[in-house]
Formats: sequence, C-alpha cells, structure tokens
Amino acid sequence: MLGAIIGDIVGSRFEFNNTDRLDFELFTPECSFTDDTICTVAIANALTSGTDRNYKGWLQAWCNAYPNPMGGYGGSFARWIASDDPQPYNSFGNGSAMRVSAIGWYFDTLEEVQIEAGNSALPTHNHLEGVKGAIATATAIFLARTQGKEAMLKAIKEHYYPTWVEPQLGKNRFDETCQGTMPVVFGIIDKANGFEEAIRYAIAVGGDSDTIGAIVGSIAEAIWGIPPVIVNTAYKYIPAPMMSIVSKFMHNYGYIR
Ligand SMILES: [Mg+2]
Repeated sequence: MLGAIIGDIVGSRFEFNNTDRLDFELFTPECSFTDDTICTVAIANALTSGTDRNYKGWLQAWCNAYPNPMGGYGGSFARWIASDDPQPYNSFGNGSAMRVSAIGWYFDTLEEVQIEAGNSALPTHNHLEGVKGAIATATAIFLARTQGKEAMLKAIKEHYYPTWVEPQLGKNRFDETCQGTMPVVFGIIDKANGFEEAIRYAIAVGGDSDTIGAIVGSIAEAIWGIPPVIVNTAYKYIPAPMMSIVSKFMHNYGYIR
C-alpha cells in the first residue's frame, strides 16, 4: 500500500500537467498526497480497526478529514463523501483500483483477497468494471507477492485483462475509467524491471498520472519492494495521522519490520 501512496505523491504534480519524460525528479516541493493516498489509508484503516471492515465508514471519515486535497475529488465521489446517506453510484472509475492495495497484503488467501476487494469497491463502484478493477488490482498484488511477476501477469491476462497497452511516452490520453486504466497499468508492469522504473513509466505515459502512479506503484511494490531511499523521502509527504496508519500497516502486514 505504500507503493500506491508513493505513486500518488510522485504523480501529483503531473495529473494536470503531464510530462513525456522519464528523467523527472521523483520528489519536489510541488508534490503532495492526493485523494488516492487518502482513500488508500481509509481502506487500510478499515482492515486494521476491528472485524467489521467498514470500508464505507472509513472512506467517509478520512475524506471528510481531508476535504480539499491537491487535485480535489471526482464530482460524484465528492457528493458521496458529503452525503448523510451515501449510496453506491454505479461508478466504473479507477478509484476502486487505486484505493484497494492494502487488501492484497492483509489477507492470507486469494479467495479472501478477492471477496474483500469487491466489498471495498461496492460502497461507490458497484458497476461491474469498477468491482473488476478492484479485484484485479488486489489479485495482482497478492499473486505478485506470493508467486512473483510472471505468474501474476499470466493470471491477469487469462482472467481479467487480455490485452495491455504498450507504454509510449506522452501517448496515453486522460481516462479515469477502470477499463481504460488497467490495460495501461499492466502494460507498464510488464515492461518495467524495477519499482522506480515502473513509477517513471506510469507518469511519463501521460494521462491520469497520480492514479496510474498509485495503481502501478501498488503492484510494483509487491513485485520488487521499494528502495529504502524512496520510502524515506516519501514519508516526509505523509501527514502524521495518516502516517500512524501507514507505519502500523507496513510493520504488521507489509514487509517493513
Ligand atoms: Mg488523485
């Protein structure tokens, strides 16, 4: 889940100002966490605070605690956050995939990972493609960390997304749907040979940079881990209340012990 947060922070300054270069600075003063980090923390918090796994409640709580992140929230999601009685709105946006990563680490079986990934999508993204994006991302994380990259990619190609987009710098157009985003994500993961390279491609293809960064980062973390220097720099961008969830999660369910 830390990989998702890092991809979000690195991509934040490029969401509305795309680059087609691979040699950009990963972290600058213009970088910030955005909605992808807030929602990722909310899902992690839902997992680690009791047995009811109240994804809906924790998403509302964290998003209301950070009402104006850099880049804002999507329009429908913003209304859902503000609602007294939030209902799913049949979304197939890539938000279900960008927030799900903790689930791929928390559970010990693929079956549990898939059930809970679906449950984490349903409060908002109850469209088939929204649920599929969450399940595919969590499945990719679980399989990558337990079986490695090649076995994971084979399963994704067979069961979820049969065709991927070959990464071409600056050629990806803005598309915030799951079905538009996930083939880009897996094309990048397929091509990359390490965490940092994957993050650089996620940004330099263009499009919805922070969210592509978050999803790619979450899967890349499960394949390669994250270089400690990147972890240490990223921590400086994470506010203390989020950091307490992140560090607890990483020490108990991730690989930083
Ligand atoms: Mg964002």
